[in-house]
Amino acid sequence: MQQVTILDPYERWYEVQQGACGICGRKQVDYCGGKPRGLLCAPCRLALSSLQNDRQRAKLIQTYLQRHAEQTPSQSA
Ligand SMILES: [Zn+2]
Repeated sequence: MQQVTILDPYERWYEVQQGACGICGRKQVDYCGGKPRGLLCAPCRLALSSLQNDRQRAKLIQTYLQRHAEQTPSQSA
């Protein structure tokens, strides 16, 4: 008789994502309970939590970060 191994959700996601965060790829993951989203690290999980699934706000934040990365403040104020 063939033995079937049943993995818990964490173990399944760990295999699928090879132990890395689903967003940034960091190896220190922190499982996000509730709705399964796979493995996430703590900073990415906190960021998602703050955004409350608001994809439009996520795009605005990305635009903001790009704009400010390109605009280096002048050293001579
Ligand atoms: Zn991450």
